[in-house]
Amino acid sequence: MAIVRDSFYINGAWVKATSSETLEVTSSGTGELYATVPVGTVEEANSAVEAAAAAFTSWSNTSAKERAEFLQRISEKLAERGDEIALTIANEVGMPMMLSKGIQAGLPTATFADNAKRAAEYVWEEEVGNSTLVREPVGVVAAITPWNYPLHQIANKVAPALAAGCTVVLKPSEVAPINAFILAEIIHEIGLPKGVFNLVTGTGPVVGEAIVAHPKTDMVSFTGSTRAGKRVMEIASQMVKRVSLELGGKSANIILADADLDKAIPDGVFKCYLNSGQTCSALTRMVVPRAQLADIEERVAAAAAGFMPSDPVEGLSLIGPLVSAAQQQRVRDYINKGVDEGATLLVGGTEMPEGLDKGFYVRPTVFSNVRNDMTIAQEEIFGPVLSIIPYDTEEEAIAIANDSNYGLAGGVWAATDEKAFEVARKIRTGQVEINGGAFNIVAPFGGYKQSGIGRELGQYGFEEFLEVKAIQHN
Ligand code: NAD
Repeated sequence: MAIVRDSFYINGAWVKATSSETLEVTSSGTGELYATVPVGTVEEANSAVEAAAAAFTSWSNTSAKERAEFLQRISEKLAERGDEIALTIANEVGMPMMLSKGIQAGLPTATFADNAKRAAEYVWEEEVGNSTLVREPVGVVAAITPWNYPLHQIANKVAPALAAGCTVVLKPSEVAPINAFILAEIIHEIGLPKGVFNLVTGTGPVVGEAIVAHPKTDMVSFTGSTRAGKRVMEIASQMVKRVSLELGGKSANIILADADLDKAIPDGVFKCYLNSGQTCSALTRMVVPRAQLADIEERVAAAAAGFMPSDPVEGLSLIGPLVSAAQQQRVRDYINKGVDEGATLLVGGTEMPEGLDKGFYVRPTVFSNVRNDMTIAQEEIFGPVLSIIPYDTEEEAIAIANDSNYGLAGGVWAATDEKAFEVARKIRTGQVEINGGAFNIVAPFGGYKQSGIGRELGQYGFEEFLEVKAIQHN
């Protein structure tokens, strides 16, 4: 039986949708109907913004300690419902259960707890000469999120916004919205004051654009494609609203000649294929010494063989399907494009993986002898497709890494951390991991160039939701 949601969460109550139109959410592993959610109208989007605006004065005047307590309670409830959240997202997005629990359910839980602590400990005022600098919340925040790490991306906005004293209207992805309803249920249950958090589902061009354009929206925090991000910025610019954008990526993983390949290659393949390659910071371009190409090809092929996809709800393998039929087709088109442009198809291809006849699966795929000007090296594929790009000199490797419209993430492998650090400094991206350094939930996350504006997570992510006021005194 499909899950049916027919209401939005506006002004502290579940409000029945006026339109009977629904959006269908499919289960990625089977292709079957998983849930339906209501399609919001401009009027419903506007009423959510009005509710958030009405709640702002009193919420922004609560003590940081009080807000921290609400956030901590949200974190605890998310932890209690962790299995349900992991299963929901395994269905909606297709991440295997064994990873979904830690990543898709675990990260948002940690982010709410981190922002609770941050609000409680933050230094809200400081003296600079004859001025007192006062930090204040920006106001009403429109939060628009994608489907790939759906609740993580929601938490990255909602937790710091609430901690800062902002009120929020959330428009989650139409592809994976059910997890957002779980968050709204939790927020209702813990008794967050009415209007502080509002949820309206629907399409980007209708609900998304309405909440961005509304005169009472002060800030837009958007994560998604560069295409939609540009549109959001264009609309927000009409009223000079603050915009924070987390967009796409095409990140390079530079393997230097003296790197430990036993570690670098399996880690590099995993960092490309995680979530079936549907990760904005995925290391999709492996930049390798030409002299070692044959050896590396062999190692990559062996590592890729460990990523045979299977049903995400059973959760027995490292990757599941892609999120949707459209995404599956898009990735297959890119695989064909890689072949057409003359890259060597080393592993994978456009056929269904063996033993699977339904669901949105794509074979883990590796191209070698990729040139950086090929489409598969320039455009974000958002699927399990790794491009191996050979280089002759270290300078060339760095130039390849930087020859991208994007600037989100990157990796460097070298015999020493010192050497990897030296190269990492030359890469123009918001994050770089050296020798397999792990994701850090309190490190700023965001991009240079067309990967976005601003940062999420940690102190930088929290401060995105603050204004600063200087009060001069004698
Ligand atoms: P998308 O841009 O299609 O949709 C993202 C959100 O924007 C959805 O909620 C959608 O409804 C909304 N939207 C679409 N058009 C809009 C419009 N005109 N006005 C307002 N809102 C609009 O992206 P997606 O397919 O959901 O997600 C995949 C993309 O997100 C990839 O490009 C990926 O790289 C990017 N992403 C970036 C990060 C990051 O932090 N940098 C993280 C995850 C995903």
